[in-house]
Amino acid sequence: MAVAVRESTPNPGPSTTAARDADERERRTRAYGESLLRALRRQERRGGSDWLYNRMIGLATQDEATKVELFRFVDALPALKTPEAVSQHLRQYLLRPDISLPPGAKGLLAFLERTAPTRRLLAAASHTGARMMARRFIAGADAREATGAVTGLRRRNLGFTLDLLGEAVTSEAEALAYQKRYLDLIRDLSDIAAKWPENPRTDQAPFGPLPKVNVSVKLSSLYARFDPMAADATVQAVKERLRPILSLARERGVFVNVDMEQHDFKGATHRIFREILCEEAYRDWPDVGIVVQAYLRDAEDDLLSLLGWTKGRGTPVWVRLVKGAYWDYETIVAAQRGHPVPVFSRKAETDANYERLTELLIENWQTLRPAIATHNVRSAARARAVAEEHGLPPRTVEYQVLFGMGEPIGRALAAEGERVRVYVPFGELLPGMAYLVRRLLENTSNDSFIRSAASAGKAEELLADPTAAALAPVPCPGTALTPGDSRRKGRGAGGEGRIP
Ligand SMILES: Cc1cc2nc3c(=O)[nH]c(=O)nc-3n(C[C@H](O)[C@H](O)[C@H](O)COP(=O)(O)OP(=O)(O)OC[C@H]3O[C@@H](n4cnc5c(N)ncnc54)[C@H](O)[C@@H]3O)c2cc1C
Repeated sequence: MAVAVRESTPNPGPSTTAARDADERERRTRAYGESLLRALRRQERRGGSDWLYNRMIGLATQDEATKVELFRFVDALPALKTPEAVSQHLRQYLLRPDISLPPGAKGLLAFLERTAPTRRLLAAASHTGARMMARRFIAGADAREATGAVTGLRRRNLGFTLDLLGEAVTSEAEALAYQKRYLDLIRDLSDIAAKWPENPRTDQAPFGPLPKVNVSVKLSSLYARFDPMAADATVQAVKERLRPILSLARERGVFVNVDMEQHDFKGATHRIFREILCEEAYRDWPDVGIVVQAYLRDAEDDLLSLLGWTKGRGTPVWVRLVKGAYWDYETIVAAQRGHPVPVFSRKAETDANYERLTELLIENWQTLRPAIATHNVRSAARARAVAEEHGLPPRTVEYQVLFGMGEPIGRALAAEGERVRVYVPFGELLPGMAYLVRRLLENTSNDSFIRSAASAGKAEELLADPTAAALAPVPCPGTALTPGDSRRKGRGAGGEGRIP
């Protein structure tokens, strides 16, 4: 008997569906990315101070050695009290044969450092130059100036989080002063904000109202002996300092975000955050957040453990997803100590991890409220694509950018209907220098998205999926063999007979 063969539509298996979803996500990512890039290019064409600044910084930092020495000089400058000290440091850092400055600059510096009156001029010009650079990234010297900056942002439909500059304080008097300045800031700004008109673009998310005032705190600034090796004492002392800040913030309707610092401090920071927010006074308070750094190899574990903890707590918290600002530091310190490096070694690995964690966050948005903090168009576009795929209305996910660095992409995202918050540091130049130098390094790193976008990188490259590059094997030095080489030589790069 002949068996009738029925024409059947093949049932797409789970792997086919997953592949189709991935293609669709990638298509949306590219489309959003291209639209953001077009908006950025339009802003660039309009020119203005960003263009001029980028050209100036570009000229001064074309060469890696010059860049490092220039930033070392900027870092040291606030501590140099006499024109002679400024001139001596300039000579040491910048007037060297291996350092290349724009044409004429070396001759001018050499001339200015020759006599006492010109040295005074040189010192004054150096301080003014550094202050101008700092002004770009630091919104003001005090709360009054910072308040002016954040009201301006609100007028442009951008939210803010204020950060009082200072990290790793060296005395208890400094730590107490830092705590007091936060308490004053929360009290004063919440009084001012009570008179601000409601702005639905910044003060409302689809799931409810958001605090108008938002502050970011670095826990190491609250205790002079912040020491992961003495974890219990550190945790107890910081919690004591943090409680008054949280209580006042809650009473005044102010949001508090805990920043993340170097890897050594991560364990204590998470412990403080979790222990304190499970206390009766704060357990049902949703206006709090923490940071996860995607460049850490164990970032996914951190996020999953935060997810489990938040479910147990019963009230959502915010997670600001960043790539991480201490990459050089972590790499150098781990090498010095002979410890495993906690961060990925290739930029693409960090970018790919950022995308994985973005997805994890957005999938769990009701428990961990996502704040995507990046200036990278591909990373932001990916978040938009994933949010759309999960059916989230615009403005459920928050986008965050840094003052002085990320406003162009912030404006572009806001123009497309997203909710954007600007991280606004303020404070004196001296404690701000570590922050300033990190920003300058980021702005001028060859790996940085900002740098490639500023030099008009190709959309194809800027929007490329980082996953393939992240998975590509790292070639070992000396293994660039052409096919057949190993057979011809009968050995591999590791030495006689060791590698078949
Ligand atoms: C609003 C806001 C708040 C922030 N708060 C914090 C914070 O609390 N703590 C913190 O640590 N950072 C913080 N950052 C900084 C952030 O971690 C990044 O340094 C910065 O945003 C640059 O990343 P990007 O995605 O914008 O740019 P991109 O140019 O795409 O990425 C640059 C980042 O890639 C990583 N990277 C660079 N080279 C390599 C390499 N060879 N291998 C592996 N990874 C590499 C580094 O993390 C580097 O910062 C914040 C940033 C923003 C926008």
